[in-house]
Amino acid sequence: MERREDFLRKIFRKYYYENVHKIQAPQRLSEREIGYLTFYPEKMIRHINLKSEGELRALLIHEAPKSVYYSSAYYDDPSAPINARIWKGADLVFDIDLDHLMVKEDYMISFTLCNSCKLYFPKNENKRCPACGSEKIKVISIPTKKGLEYGKEEIVRLMDILIEDFGISKKEMKIYFSGKRGYHLTVENSLYEDADQNFRMELSDYLTLNGFKISNILNQEYTLNELSQLFPLPYEKGWLGRVSKSFFKDILNDPLQNLNENYLRDMLQKYFLTITRKELQSILEKIVDKIKIRIDTNVTTDIHRIFRMPETLHGETGFIKKEITIIESFYPLVDAIAFTQEPIKVYVHYAPKFELNEQVFGPYKNQEIILPEMTAVFLTCMGLAEPLDCP
Ligand SMILES: [Zn+2]
Repeated sequence: MERREDFLRKIFRKYYYENVHKIQAPQRLSEREIGYLTFYPEKMIRHINLKSEGELRALLIHEAPKSVYYSSAYYDDPSAPINARIWKGADLVFDIDLDHLMVKEDYMISFTLCNSCKLYFPKNENKRCPACGSEKIKVISIPTKKGLEYGKEEIVRLMDILIEDFGISKKEMKIYFSGKRGYHLTVENSLYEDADQNFRMELSDYLTLNGFKISNILNQEYTLNELSQLFPLPYEKGWLGRVSKSFFKDILNDPLQNLNENYLRDMLQKYFLTITRKELQSILEKIVDKIKIRIDTNVTTDIHRIFRMPETLHGETGFIKKEITIIESFYPLVDAIAFTQEPIKVYVHYAPKFELNEQVFGPYKNQEIILPEMTAVFLTCMGLAEPLDCP
């Protein structure tokens, strides 16, 4: 354990030493709380106040932390105990993680690894290792390129809603690959900076369609024929319009080129003759489930949270939390790679077949192997390999 952490700390320090000039401090750094996680022994250090980018860079090189965090909130004195500070506002933050999305089998490779005997076995309900009986087992999930592409679609949908329904401009939003299995979106300098926790909870409910009632569309007081005249239309604002859009496109197979109300109502009326209320209810429930935004609501609603700092390394993968400028041409498993192709010898307990930087690796099982630095660091961070060479 110590050896592995020591290897990672050295290699993280080398990265920070060589790349520190690229790391920019978040805006209003001195008003934010900074925190970081150390390598072995693992310890969370919080309530740090940094005055300048220079101080931040010095901390990164000196400490070579496993992970670095900053508060989304601004305080009068970030180093004071939480109850003694004045909260001055906070960025809006959103976390889209593959763990929360409707994940298909080929979006993530998941398996279980026993930390005692290093046996790997398929993900199952067992709370113990089938070989040694240890409870120190850990489910490991490696996102695939396909899974991360799917995550991108979710973040784009989130951006669209923030723009259309909340008037947030593209300029106020920043998007990042989280460094692990998802994406972060932050909104800085917006009207919502002062928004309190209640507002953020309502915003989360709005995005996740928590509490959205199908009965608002399928009012029991009306017949289906009457409802065809009251059903939301695709050009309506907000979620009702989105539900309608999905209904026309996916259920009625209408390309939505003709938005004439009579034409649309006529289509609904004809279709509603062919189904029961119960069937319509079930169709609408499926649409709602498909179009809601699956953010991690804990992140958005916590106004004192510390959040991974952009351009720093993720301690569980060795990837960079990377800002995304053009999402269509951003590929996390290429663009967020921090380390080099330099050969390093490692002992791999287990690794499935996976892809990094458009190269395919694995599967490996209980073997010594020379791998590029980027791959050796990734597997070591994930707890799947032990370094044999030390940098
Ligand atoms: Zn075991």
